[in-house]
Amino acid sequence: MSSALKGRSVTITGAGVAGLTAAIALAQRSARVTVLERATAIREVGAGLQLSPNAIRVIDALGLGAELRRISLRSRAVRLRDASGRPVATLDLLRHRPNDDFRLIHRARLIELLAKAARAAGAEIRLNQMVETPPEDALVIGADGLRSVIRTALNGREVPFFTHQTAWRAVIPDHADSRPEAQVFMGPGRHLVSYPLAGGLRNLVAVQERHEWQQEGWSQPDDPANLRSAFAGFGGPVPEWLDAVTETHIWGLFRHEVAGCWQDGRMVLIGDAAHPTLPFMAQGAAMAIEDAWILAACLDSMPDQTSALARFETLRRSRAARIVAAANANARNYHLTGPLRLAAHTALRLASRFAPGRLLGRFDWLYDYDPVAVTP
Ligand SMILES: Cc1cc2nc3c(=O)[nH]c(=O)nc-3n(C[C@H](O)[C@H](O)[C@H](O)COP(=O)(O)OP(=O)(O)OC[C@H]3O[C@@H](n4cnc5c(N)ncnc54)[C@H](O)[C@@H]3O)c2cc1C
Repeated sequence: MSSALKGRSVTITGAGVAGLTAAIALAQRSARVTVLERATAIREVGAGLQLSPNAIRVIDALGLGAELRRISLRSRAVRLRDASGRPVATLDLLRHRPNDDFRLIHRARLIELLAKAARAAGAEIRLNQMVETPPEDALVIGADGLRSVIRTALNGREVPFFTHQTAWRAVIPDHADSRPEAQVFMGPGRHLVSYPLAGGLRNLVAVQERHEWQQEGWSQPDDPANLRSAFAGFGGPVPEWLDAVTETHIWGLFRHEVAGCWQDGRMVLIGDAAHPTLPFMAQGAAMAIEDAWILAACLDSMPDQTSALARFETLRRSRAARIVAAANANARNYHLTGPLRLAAHTALRLASRFAPGRLLGRFDWLYDYDPVAVTP
């Protein structure tokens, strides 16, 4: 590390995964970091996250790997099933990526870990600070998520596109002996993803294609009966899981463009503020973590801020766009109907049986990426 950041003031808007990870990376490099968060307390919605090795390399480099491992489960596999519960394909993470860590974690635990580490590194987190116009400071990092004020300042108002997909999320109690793996149940026009979390909990995300408009955002409660009726025909463990749901939230999935302008030499976007994604590659938080590290590395190695922010954008734009496009494609693949569905599931079953390594190998570009090794 050089010392271009030593003593420099940095203002970050938003104390989510992106803002807090950036705060740690910058404060560890001796920047004076202030994080402005609109919420009155650091708390998170009840939901799970899958964290892949590309993000965990950053968590390790920040010195937080041991704590992350203590509060999360190591994911062994991703199992794709049809709606009846019959196996379609297995991505065996332990067998085909034995040296990598894939983790299942409650979002609240991850946010607590990051907030504690940011404060320990010297960052100041100011709560109850609703940013309405961009701060005037010399370096402003917009980590203010989906409806970023900083993104609007850089790009003007933009209108996202409703995908006609609606999602429920819920956390339920789990059996102590359940396998630490993600399961995806794919039916016509709908799919359900579930995995256990540390501490005896299980995460559920259920997505259904629907024509009625549904608001974007995570906090709208819904009646669990609606979730149960939407997935009534599903088999395997799904009925038991859905019976256990006592509280659920619903939201509409919107497709956003990757921001046209990421930075202007003074303000810069990271995380969902720059590239919101549909959740179908489980990479939104991972990209936020990658961004945070690489931005700090660019600012630390290049004393000229204009060049550092331009370099950051160059390093990140094409990867973010590729991941967002892959998530858009998965939205279609999970919900196929009729002959297309039969053909796709048959191809997946064959690949899983005869070339299981190759199935997971299609994602090498995603999981091999090492943000810590990127030359700023
Ligand atoms: C159902 C679902 C499942 C997902 N699963 C995964 C997964 O398995 N793996 C994965 O990697 N990703 C996953 N993601 C994506 C991931 O959650 C997000 O991409 C990630 O949280 C983005 O982090 P962020 O810090 O950019 O934004 P956010 O987490 O949205 O944080 C933004 C912060 O800014 C604050 N803020 C906003 N506006 C203002 C303002 N004006 N003033 C002050 N503060 C403000 C907010 O309060 C918030 O704290 C999932 C997302 C969904 C919806």
